[in-house]
Amino acid sequence: MASDTDLRQNEKATALEPASDAVLRFIGTIRTPWTDRDDCPRQGRLDGPECRIVLNPEWHEALTGLDNYETVEVLYWLDQSRRDLVLQSPKSDGRIVGTFALRSPVRPNPIGTSIVKLERIENGTLFVRGLDCLDGTPLVDIKPNRCDFTPKAPPKPGDGQTD
Ligand code: SAM
Repeated sequence: MASDTDLRQNEKATALEPASDAVLRFIGTIRTPWTDRDDCPRQGRLDGPECRIVLNPEWHEALTGLDNYETVEVLYWLDQSRRDLVLQSPKSDGRIVGTFALRSPVRPNPIGTSIVKLERIENGTLFVRGLDCLDGTPLVDIKPNRCDFTPKAPPKPGDGQTD
């Protein structure tokens, strides 16, 4: 994790209590070719290198039906990010942008998302293209790509909303 002294020109951090208000349960590990942040793409490409999403065994069955989708959304925890920057200087040139106007890994809850191309699933491992995270990045969730997802019939008055 970066230290408070690593601020770039005009960047601003905020003082934070240790986070304690939510607990995530990681469900697997992402294996990619990148071990150094500088080598990682800033955003994945669907024609990028094949990566593996290795699900913990207790979640293998939860993949049932996912192979119907060509692309899926992956959420992961950018675990090596600092989490206290309010203003950031992405280009290190003194110009600043608010954290929520960026897709930077540096954010209060460092969740990364990518739409990836699903090549195949074997024994609880997804083989995908389109990731941009370090090898060993913890996996938070997997969902069908919302653009591929077939919406249910529009709700009628009185219907309960369940998802
Ligand atoms: N596609 C995701 C998104 O838009 O939410 C992440 C984009 S973020 C700009 C991708 C960058 O995060 C990579 O280029 C790398 O510098 C950094 N990164 C990748 N894995 C990381 C990790 N485990 N911890 C901290 N930073 C990471």
